Amino acid sequence: MSKDFLSDVRDHYDVIVIGSGLAGLTGANVLAKAGYSVLLLEHHYQLGGMATWFKRRGGHIFDISLHGFPIGMIKSCRKYWTQEIADSIVPLKGIRFENPQFSLWTSFNREDFTRILIEKFGVTAETVQAFFDAARQMNYYDDQTTTTRELFERFFPGRSDVVRLLMEPITYANGSTLEDPALTYGIVFSNFMSKGVYTFQGGTDKLIRQMREELERNGVDIRIRSLVERIEVNPGRQVSAVWVNGKRIACQSVLSNANIKSTVLNLAGEQNFDPSFVEETRAVRLNNSSCQVYIALKPGAGFDYCGDLLFHSEHSGFDIDAMLSKSISSRTFSFYYPETRPGSDRWLIVSSTNANYADWSTLSDEEYEADKQRLCESTLDCLEQYVPNVREKVDWLEASTPRTFRHYTRHLEGASFGTKFEGLKVSQSLPQQVSGLFHAGSVGIIMSGWLGAVNYGVIVANEIDKHLTATGALRPSAAAS
Ligand SMILES: Cc1cc2nc3c(=O)[nH]c(=O)nc-3n(C[C@H](O)[C@H](O)[C@H](O)COP(=O)(O)OP(=O)(O)OC[C@H]3O[C@@H](n4cnc5c(N)ncnc54)[C@H](O)[C@@H]3O)c2cc1C
Repeated sequence: MSKDFLSDVRDHYDVIVIGSGLAGLTGANVLAKAGYSVLLLEHHYQLGGMATWFKRRGGHIFDISLHGFPIGMIKSCRKYWTQEIADSIVPLKGIRFENPQFSLWTSFNREDFTRILIEKFGVTAETVQAFFDAARQMNYYDDQTTTTRELFERFFPGRSDVVRLLMEPITYANGSTLEDPALTYGIVFSNFMSKGVYTFQGGTDKLIRQMREELERNGVDIRIRSLVERIEVNPGRQVSAVWVNGKRIACQSVLSNANIKSTVLNLAGEQNFDPSFVEETRAVRLNNSSCQVYIALKPGAGFDYCGDLLFHSEHSGFDIDAMLSKSISSRTFSFYYPETRPGSDRWLIVSSTNANYADWSTLSDEEYEADKQRLCESTLDCLEQYVPNVREKVDWLEASTPRTFRHYTRHLEGASFGTKFEGLKVSQSLPQQVSGLFHAGSVGIIMSGWLGAVNYGVIVANEIDKHLTATGALRPSAAAS
């Protein structure tokens, strides 16, 4: 008989969280700490969503999305998780660009970018300062019509090399393009520029294990392999329950960490929303997906330090279509040294490329396998220039595609970074449509990435707290007093 992953589950919770991405995990933790009963439902056998890892024969552990995040993660983890988690966050030392326009190393912060822009690119100090100040002042309530392209044109007209330096890493980090609102660029870029790029020492498996322990300490009921099929909404447009693995579990409130479009159109169902809201949801554009190639070297085999993060491109200039093309001309290499997982003797490399779902979704099984093989081989060819004789050292080689991301996270079209900007409004206005229904997760570019997801989880948990307080759902602690 198959295992019942919902055995002993209660028939009612204050809050049910659908999905254990960083926003779902953080939202669940904040609400449980506030005293609410919380059920966390995850369809996968592992928590973390895109913040994940996998193990392969020979003791290799690959991280999927541990390439870098801004320093703000330390504060968020200390405040909303634990000091222990915050203490494992360490800076990356070397960020590197190799492309036909320039070759450089940087610590990826304002000071170093200022130096590079002045000394290497010949931009005046006044222009650099004015650009940084403009980017840092941007916020959500600003003008949303200026595009990133217009922002760059204002400060660096005709300078495709400068645009590439400033934009290429952000496009890799969140899929944004020159046509997206400048404020999405300004917010994310400034977050990185404040102190550079950070990583989690010990790997994603350690982070998620520590998060799980904290959730358990705070009393969250965690269920894996639990696919939510439906969010039940009563005729008064109030959330009443979720249906998971064929079972109904009642609740006061739902925090969906599933894709915003699937939350509205599939899980809750469009009959529960105003027609205009359904139209708005349909119009939300998904962000792009990704391909990755995972390369593990034989135990003990390594390579000379070649940076932590390398933005490699053979394309003549910054070109979003080229970055998404299946005919790959640019890759971001993450180099993982034994220090990534202290005590290990492993050197690993993960190559990431932005990708279109449509390029991979229509292939036959044979074509798909052949194209994955080609992706692995072309990646090794490219890597040879940074890690000589890498083929002789490889112990494990494997690729993932937009189909893989779709399969494991159920994001429509395997979207790696949620939705374009308009998704944020739909996400935020969800509770005005259905009382008690909330969404937190990658949307609108600025709420994407590890830091964006964690912080959005906190923001929405606070909204849920207000909602539950207003509707009189007593916290256990309050009920006892
Ligand atoms: C290749 C790649 C590289 C990345 N690199 C970085 C990086 O270096 N730095 C960075 O900051 N960010 C990076 N990101 C982005 C970052 O990982 C994500 O933005 C973030 O982890 C998303 O968190 P989230 O809360 O939105 O949820 P997700 O991670 O999208 O998780 C959603 C969860 O909901 C679950 N779910 C969905 N539907 C259901 C259902 N019906 N029932 C039950 N469970 C359900 C899914 O299984 C999943 O676990 C990367 C992403 C990718 C794909």
